[in-house]
Amino acid sequence: MENTITDQIKTLLEMQGLDLKINSIEERLKEIPLKIEEKWKKVKEKEEEVSRIKKEIEKTILQRKEKELELETNQETIKKYQLQLYQVKTNKEYASLLHEIEDLKRKNSLLEDEIIELMEKTESGEEVLQREKEELERLKEKVKREEEEGKKEMEKLKKEEDELMEKKKVLAKGVRGDLLNRYEKLIKSRGTALAKVINGVCGGCHLELPPQVVSEVRSGRKVVTCERCSRILYWESNISSETPLNQ
Ligand SMILES: [Zn+2]
Repeated sequence: MENTITDQIKTLLEMQGLDLKINSIEERLKEIPLKIEEKWKKVKEKEEEVSRIKKEIEKTILQRKEKELELETNQETIKKYQLQLYQVKTNKEYASLLHEIEDLKRKNSLLEDEIIELMEKTESGEEVLQREKEELERLKEKVKREEEEGKKEMEKLKKEEDELMEKKKVLAKGVRGDLLNRYEKLIKSRGTALAKVINGVCGGCHLELPPQVVSEVRSGRKVVTCERCSRILYWESNISSETPLNQ
């Protein structure tokens, strides 16, 4: 014997409850990997920042070495000029050499300042680098943990989903084929397939229903759908009472 329309609607309502849960599980299953991906992106950004700082430090070291070399060369030249001072024949030559030496000494003094500045820059860069590296490690560990937790949650959710699907399959056996098809289509397109009639209005789309339609729903003898949203309409007290009105 086939179940009454009211019984089938009751079953469909139960199925709808399961489908809502299944849908929220599906949402979460999509959301988790995206969130984890987002977090790994942050790790990658941090890695790029660390390598940028490293390059910056390498650059200051290189600049310092160049300046040190220049300083050394200048010092060699100064020494050479100082020796030449004893060999020059004219006052003019002497003055000119002396001028060269002074010029180089001035340059070297500037170079020394620049070298110190670069050393300080390297030092503070190293400090920042160390901090950023530690932060990166912490972040990596955190994301790894979160990824593992996410995977565990997904496994749990999939299991839960399977159980709900299984329950739904059992329930579906008590529903007429055409009604089941209509239900599935509505769930896919609208999220819910059934709508309660509340004060003569479709609970799904709020369309005011003609009194004839309302009384048909109330009678519980046939499947009545909303003209606008196509949802299957039901009367609350038919569903909740132990003895439906049509019996
Ligand atoms: Zn409607």
